[in-house]
Amino acid sequence: MKYLVSLLFLFGSFYMFISPLTSFSQTDDSNVDDEFIEYQNKSIPVEIAEATIEALSYFPELEDVSIDFVYREKIKGAVMQAQPYLFSLFVNGKNSRRYKIKVTRQLEFAEGYYPIEQVPYDALVGWIGHELGHVMDYLNRSSANMMHFGARYFLSNKRVIEAELTADGYAIGCGMGHHILANKNYILNNENFEDDYKDKIKNLYMSPDQILTLQKVLDDKVERQN
Ligand SMILES: [Zn+2]
Repeated sequence: MKYLVSLLFLFGSFYMFISPLTSFSQTDDSNVDDEFIEYQNKSIPVEIAEATIEALSYFPELEDVSIDFVYREKIKGAVMQAQPYLFSLFVNGKNSRRYKIKVTRQLEFAEGYYPIEQVPYDALVGWIGHELGHVMDYLNRSSANMMHFGARYFLSNKRVIEAELTADGYAIGCGMGHHILANKNYILNNENFEDDYKDKIKNLYMSPDQILTLQKVLDDKVERQN
């Protein structure tokens, strides 16, 4: 009986985890003409390959981790989004789990569509670095924990804040403070992003001041070690 209850709970969480995701991932917008490069167990669209490889260079721990960078036409409430492949949560052990990072192909700005590769380089590297920070966080979670995490993420702002601060924290800890800051400033000072999105970034993510403070703490620590 106890087993049944936990099984039901697991599937409940699982369903909540996948339902908000599948609601906008059912249409696969990847274009067959998209060109990808293969790099260290990763598949990366050519347009963002340089920025992605630069971001990856800050995360040696991710060298063998399988990540597909895939284009999407639109991602609800986000420009990029890191996730484990659902089948991989069941089939693969924690160490061989596979991930994908969805990337909006073109931002919808007032003056028209704006291809993602035209985002200023440092801000783009920072964007990808933030998503890689999420993957670092996922690496430490068991599959059952991932499902509960997924469910909680969609139910509670507190969990979102925790997850987003963790992702930024990983990226900044890996030496990407400058890129993360460039990314926040790009979003917050850009009239083309909707206020809803900017408010989300302001309220749930690390602020430019917090990024600078954390970066300074880390720099001082490195200095003391030398
Ligand atoms: Zn995030």
